[in-house]
Amino acid sequence: MSSTVPFNVPPLADEVSDAVVKVLDSGWITTGPQTAAFEQEFADHLGAAHVVAVASCTTALELCLRAMGLPPGSPVLTPSLTFCGAINAILHAGHRPVLVDIDEDTLVPSPETVAAAAARVKPAAMVTQNQAGYPVDVPALAAAAGLDRSRIVEDTAHGPGAARGGAPVGSSSFAACFSFYATKNLPIGEGGAVATSDEELADRVRAMRLHGLSKDAWKRYMPGGSWRYDLKTIGLKANMTDVQAAIGRAQLRALPDWQRAREELVARYDAALADVPGLILPQRGLPADVRHAWHLYQVRVPDRDVVGDELQAAGVATSVHFIPAHQLTAYRELLGEEECGRLPVTDRVAEQLLSLPLYPGLSPDGQDRVVAALTEALRTRG
Ligand SMILES: *Cc1c(COP(=O)(O)O)cnc(C)c1O
Repeated sequence: MSSTVPFNVPPLADEVSDAVVKVLDSGWITTGPQTAAFEQEFADHLGAAHVVAVASCTTALELCLRAMGLPPGSPVLTPSLTFCGAINAILHAGHRPVLVDIDEDTLVPSPETVAAAAARVKPAAMVTQNQAGYPVDVPALAAAAGLDRSRIVEDTAHGPGAARGGAPVGSSSFAACFSFYATKNLPIGEGGAVATSDEELADRVRAMRLHGLSKDAWKRYMPGGSWRYDLKTIGLKANMTDVQAAIGRAQLRALPDWQRAREELVARYDAALADVPGLILPQRGLPADVRHAWHLYQVRVPDRDVVGDELQAAGVATSVHFIPAHQLTAYRELLGEEECGRLPVTDRVAEQLLSLPLYPGLSPDGQDRVVAALTEALRTRG
């Protein structure tokens, strides 16, 4: 048996190494001209008015929530089926996560589950999540929550490449938060960005990503820069470095090809796995105006933990997205058993979810091995 099929291999564009060396040689290695250029290019890519590059999606979420200036302890809706970073961001911003159940087909909250949560606790804001790359219907969810769009923060960590109604995710958002973590569709290693149509939010996040220093404070060490600065608000240390931004610029040029590769791999999985008994494939029959980003290919299987172990033994690495927040110790202690007992669909579906390898460099041979191992594991379970 040849080596294991990894769960993820981050693709790296050819120009990345040269781009990094150029930054190192330039004498300017933290936030600077590369970051500004990456922001402009990512904004152009999305069709967004403003992009502010930051250290991570987690800090992007926290900065956007802080920038809203909500009263401390405000209830903020969020799916429980999300990454802990998104819940931590709500808590670090000083607010209270209110967990929302999901729809079984889309794996994201529906207007009904949002309305049910909003009826229990009147929310001050909501964090949406594009699970696996599915572009959520933000206006419908905002209406169900009774919230203005200026109270919606979109966690679009899985989102670049997704679109709804012809509009790329993040192109017209009040606050869309992207991740450039190693496993994401546009990998830099670490990094994040806020895309917004609101200039005021962009200005606030730009100041708050660097302690809250007055605008363009990073320029103070540039030739002709002034040492003078003011601190207008209490921010975070969450700026992106020019080394990251240079990687991001090179990666961004390759992203459209990578998205096409993901779509082809997904079509191949769909065809090869269509008739495996006991297996539930990702949702099909999406509306024609919905473009999925295919960050993840998540199937549902019986005996998920054992099936995952059997795949591992057969040389196929898998992952799980996610352990729901309400099943994690720290949040259970914080939110209490009652709040954590209100998520029946999440409880039932999350224990079946298994993410299969999906990345631009996955070879047909590697994919065939995933299919064979999964088919074998389910042969006796269907
Ligand atoms: C990866 C991820 C994050 C966190 O991104 P970072 O850039 O690592 O902070 C947040 N939300 C979701 C849904 C994610 O998958």
